[in-house]
Amino acid sequence: MTVPDVRLNDGAMMPQLGFGVFQVSDEEAEHAVEVALRDGYRSVDTASAYGNEEGTGRALRASGLPREELFVTTKLWNSDQGYDRTLRAFDASMRRLGLDYLDLYLIHWPMPGHDTYMDTWRAFQKLQEDGRIRSIGVSNFTVDALRRVMDESGTVPAVNQIELHPYFQQDGLRAFHREHGIHTEAWAPLGQGQGLLDDPALARIAQAHDRTPAQVVLRWHLQIGNVVIPKSVTPRRIAENIDVFGFDLGPDDMKTIAELDKGARVGPDPATFEMA
Ligand code: NAD
Repeated sequence: MTVPDVRLNDGAMMPQLGFGVFQVSDEEAEHAVEVALRDGYRSVDTASAYGNEEGTGRALRASGLPREELFVTTKLWNSDQGYDRTLRAFDASMRRLGLDYLDLYLIHWPMPGHDTYMDTWRAFQKLQEDGRIRSIGVSNFTVDALRRVMDESGTVPAVNQIELHPYFQQDGLRAFHREHGIHTEAWAPLGQGQGLLDDPALARIAQAHDRTPAQVVLRWHLQIGNVVIPKSVTPRRIAENIDVFGFDLGPDDMKTIAELDKGARVGPDPATFEMA
């Protein structure tokens, strides 16, 4: 299975579908990433907060795949925000991953009340200038936080990784991203599996295409231009989630899914989430 790339605003290419490892132990991540790489995934999304950068790194090395074929994302945790702390946290993540450059580094949450994301972003710019990171981006950033980063640093984040699924479609933020050349990356693309995948409208579309509801949801993301990083530790589902390039949803299917939006998050609200 070959996954198409999207071009980021800094010219780098990123696979449109990758593999997420949130809430997976170090050992489980090693195994799941090995399975995913065998199935054709080339992009992996981890974070220092997930505690599985070492297992992820072991699986990347064990794959024997050339480094340039892999796209690795990790994230700077909230308690590491600030210029010097960021530089140290980046080194620690790279040691755990066992890599000498990173494809994409994200500020995990803006924590606007702490007011440290600008200093953090300046450290990201420095690491990119030094050639240690190919692309720099953010996660869970609101329009206000994105505007401030762009206005004060002159650099547009390559990516904003945000909660996004049919029950929480984020049309306003997606339009802002489009206007400014920021790529939308969807976390919890399957709504973390809770409820969403049992939706009767998705079941009907899935049946009509002889696919599963998870495949229909991932296909919808791809057709609206999102990068997606579904997570599973079950080999059958890992394979199912990348097998989404051999069919198309029609305009009626897309309209039905657009109408499922309930504005319902599964995760915290970034405007108020300050856990450090
Ligand atoms: P997800 O939407 O990918 O859902 C994963 C869950 O869905 C699985 O645990 C499983 O229960 C179910 N599932 C997966 N494949 C299935 C299938 N084919 N059929 C039926 N059920 C299936 O949720 P997620 O893990 O929260 O998000 C994906 C990735 O996004 C994470 O692993 C992580 O890398 C990233 N993420 C980032 C943030 C952030 O703050 N930046 C937050 C959460 C997640």
